Amino acid sequence: MNTNCRMKRTNAVRQKDCDRVTHCRQDLWVPRSVSRRDFIRTSFGAAGALAVGACSLFESRSPAGTISFGILTDTHYADKDPGGERHYRDSIAKMRQCVEVFNKRNLPFAVELGDLVDAAPKKETELGFLKTISGHFSEFQGERHYVLGNHCVAAFTKEEFLGNCGTETPKGYYSFDCGGFHFVILDANFRGDGAPYAAGNFDWTDSNLSDRELVWLRNDLRAARDKRAVLFVHQNLHNETEMTGVKNGARVRRILEDAGNVRVVLQGHHHAGAHARINGIDYFTLRAMVEGPGVENNSFAVVTINEDNSIAIDGFGQQADRLLT
Ligand SMILES: [Zn+2]
Ligand SMILES: [Zn+2]
Repeated sequence: MNTNCRMKRTNAVRQKDCDRVTHCRQDLWVPRSVSRRDFIRTSFGAAGALAVGACSLFESRSPAGTISFGILTDTHYADKDPGGERHYRDSIAKMRQCVEVFNKRNLPFAVELGDLVDAAPKKETELGFLKTISGHFSEFQGERHYVLGNHCVAAFTKEEFLGNCGTETPKGYYSFDCGGFHFVILDANFRGDGAPYAAGNFDWTDSNLSDRELVWLRNDLRAARDKRAVLFVHQNLHNETEMTGVKNGARVRRILEDAGNVRVVLQGHHHAGAHARINGIDYFTLRAMVEGPGVENNSFAVVTINEDNSIAIDGFGQQADRLLT
């Protein structure tokens, strides 16, 4: 049965073709014994270590020049009644379904693109929401990465939020390598005056990358110029004239275009989802998980970068499939 599951995953078939979770889990290749510190290169370059755990195994088992990983966004989990089309409680069932699919697909890592929780009357109550939804995400057997969204820091500081996610990369922005690709987590939660968002001290439409982050980003992409790069950010880098856009998005795009190795930017925040292509770089916004009742309105995706540089977005629930060529 294990062999059967492995063969089916190798053929990249859908979850229904390998529907016995317990059997599939027995041969998951992500070793629990591998320290996540081995996997991460921090934003400050201190560790400098490349993927020696999950990703090295991934490389040994996958065709060269391709990679698959999971993305989800805007779960807005809260134990409260729906507001409009936001069904806050249903995000638990949706997250569980998402993690089950990611585990069956044997993905090396998954990125949560921000707005993990929604508001509570008291900070300690919201902390409980955070621990609950992050606990469900932690059932994912690969590496978990958290992008900061504006709702993540409505009640918490960035350090408080990340410190309670159980991530071993409690940083707003950093990068890591996997499968011969370079991945960058960005933080657009800075005000126009440079102050970091913290405990609601911001206007959510005033989203920016900090000057320090921009310097780091330029240097990070230059150091990884021999690899194709994928960026993750909550707010949107393709539309600075709109409310959901990062206000210094044009500056950021120039850095990405100058680097020459950025293939795609994956985003959240705009709940309906979106796609734009600017100067050869795709900006894909994933539909929000919180929108609509029940798992039939779920939204998440498995992203595959193919050897020919095309990108397959394998959408689940209401997220449509896309092929970006
Ligand atoms: Zn949101
Ligand atoms: Zn948001």
